[in-house]
Amino acid sequence: MSPTGRYAPSPTGDLHVGNLRTALLAWLFARSTGRAFRMRVEDLDRARSGSAERQLADLAAVGIDWDGDVVVQSTRNVLYAEALETLRERGLVYACFCTRREIAEAASAPHAAPGAYPGTCRNLDDAERAARRASGRPPALRLRSAVDSFTVHDVLAGEWTGLVDDLVLVRNDGTVAYNFAVVLDDGQMGIDQVVRGDDLLASSPRQAYLATVLGLQPPTYAHVPLVLGPTGARLAKRDGAVTLRELTEDGVAVADVVGMIADSLDLRGARTAAAMLERFDPAALPRHPWTFTPARQ
Ligand code: GLU
Repeated sequence: MSPTGRYAPSPTGDLHVGNLRTALLAWLFARSTGRAFRMRVEDLDRARSGSAERQLADLAAVGIDWDGDVVVQSTRNVLYAEALETLRERGLVYACFCTRREIAEAASAPHAAPGAYPGTCRNLDDAERAARRASGRPPALRLRSAVDSFTVHDVLAGEWTGLVDDLVLVRNDGTVAYNFAVVLDDGQMGIDQVVRGDDLLASSPRQAYLATVLGLQPPTYAHVPLVLGPTGARLAKRDGAVTLRELTEDGVAVADVVGMIADSLDLRGARTAAAMLERFDPAALPRHPWTFTPARQ
């Protein structure tokens, strides 16, 4: 498959300037390296009706184009079920009956790796498993991991090693877990370059490890700094006019929004995605977070 990048928004509301900046970066990284660029709607969880269409329209409005059909996760249950079955046949899946509270308690015990699932249900014997099942609580399904850490290559963070635990593949409400769907979709779509917000850097060792378990080559990553709002916290709706639609309603032109993002990437003067692409150099990418202060008209 030819080298390919992607953007994978969750359709939970309109994209704000920070989301658009990450999307533009994903597109710039892909297009500046001769890659194809794909779009994927991650609607397994908390999707809001009509949101995906609005997000895709906004991405197109800022000049992002993509190849092939938009991939929609909620239409791909057969792919996920088949992969789960393969892992199950290999003995790599187990049922986990733990509640959030049980996990938090066990994970706060001395010697537990912070943030790691402590493996409570990994070695239940048949009687114990039957007893937990009889309690009526449906289990989540977890991967039986063979490692507790994994190293990824990140264009910004370098060789980055992080925690891998027995991650959830299917949640106890039957929904395919984010980590599992992302890895399967990226693999099936031929994605070899993942550019996204750096809040997901800590998930990347789990995902890259899972890729190797599934016989897939992990992608190269670029986890880019999130955009901050005026309070110094991650930019969010409460910060005022932050989405493309809110900004344009306030009289800001789309080219001005693209221009602000270009300025924040030290591509001063560019006011279209195409103009940004002409000058984009991943090595010159500013590493510091950008603070966006919405200016009410
Ligand atoms: N859907 C995720 C989000 O919107 C991104 C997942 C990814 O890029 O791997 O935060």
